[in-house]
Amino acid sequence: MANITIDRIQKAFGATRALEEISLEVHDGEFLALLGPSGCGKTTLLRIIAGLETQSGGRVLIGGRDVSALPPRKRGLAMVFQNYAVFPHLTVAENIAFGLRMAGADKARMQRQVERAASLLHIGPLLARYPAQLSGGQRQRVAVARALAVEPAVLLMDEPLSNLDALLRLEMRAELKAVLAASGTTTIYVTHDQTEAMGLADRIAVMHGGVIEQIGGASDIYHRPRTRFVGGFVGSPPMNFLRLPVRGGQVALGGLTLPAPATAAEVVLGLRAEDLQPATPQDGFAFELRVAEPLGSHLLLTGTTEGQLMRVVVPYADGALPQPGQVLHLRPNLDRLNWMDATSGVALE
Ligand code: ATP
Repeated sequence: MANITIDRIQKAFGATRALEEISLEVHDGEFLALLGPSGCGKTTLLRIIAGLETQSGGRVLIGGRDVSALPPRKRGLAMVFQNYAVFPHLTVAENIAFGLRMAGADKARMQRQVERAASLLHIGPLLARYPAQLSGGQRQRVAVARALAVEPAVLLMDEPLSNLDALLRLEMRAELKAVLAASGTTTIYVTHDQTEAMGLADRIAVMHGGVIEQIGGASDIYHRPRTRFVGGFVGSPPMNFLRLPVRGGQVALGGLTLPAPATAAEVVLGLRAEDLQPATPQDGFAFELRVAEPLGSHLLLTGTTEGQLMRVVVPYADGALPQPGQVLHLRPNLDRLNWMDATSGVALE
């Protein structure tokens, strides 16, 4: 079993509190993404799990074994970090074989694994080259291949695809997902790219300011954000937030009256851009268009409702674009309302 238990991990760098008190269970064979903006603490958490950084408090267990005091090489894991250090004096093939050689693998296994990892990462033709003869993206793929070649039970990755162009990144993402699912590797993957996290992970932990704000499946995080931060960080465009007054337990939004689950004077209503559909003034609210952007199969409309910024995504086949200044009427999908406390930004139901 290669489950990972993160038990009340804290980290301070002098006066900077990088991690508050993080507890988290990653199941055996699970792919977990740590997602968050720059500086939220995700790399620090990964480095603590790897043993490259010492925690200020708490424990890390791998397969039930407390590894908190062990050096990285004794923790039984493989890692690929942002700076993807490959050995400059070794060829690509020797780099990929490095971990296997250390583990005392025989020649046949080494060759088999090197070829397999290289073909997976599309670097088969580069096996005889040295890192200085590779592009940044190729070097990054060598680092990933080296980690995969040892067939680790636990794999830690920090933005391993960041140096690849968009198309290659998409391709590698799908390959990584397939190969890690097939091998049952327990994976923790750090990224600030929400599409990558949603596409790859079984569960996503959304971090902000040294805490995990929400952990769940992609759909949960996307449709039911526990906080305003999560709704605003995940999804493109981000979730819309309307600040609305509550009167007699209800919120009026144009011709719509919605029961509000709050006793406060104000509430925030979170609405995804695609959870809005055409309506009439009687059963909808007014949306004044500022800009219409065609995105291929969809239109992204940016405008205002009740004087507040709102983005709407609607299917678009062809034809004339709606014009700036035009007033459209919309109503939300009532199953997809996200009520949040106006002060704390925490979901109310
Ligand atoms: P990024 O996506 O930019 O890599 P991150 O979410 O991985 O960001 P961390 O690198 O974990 O963030 O940093 C978390 C916080 O800890 C930041 O405020 C950072 O400035 C601080 N920090 C990280 N490493 C150190 C260090 N060695 N010394 C002092 N402060 C540090």
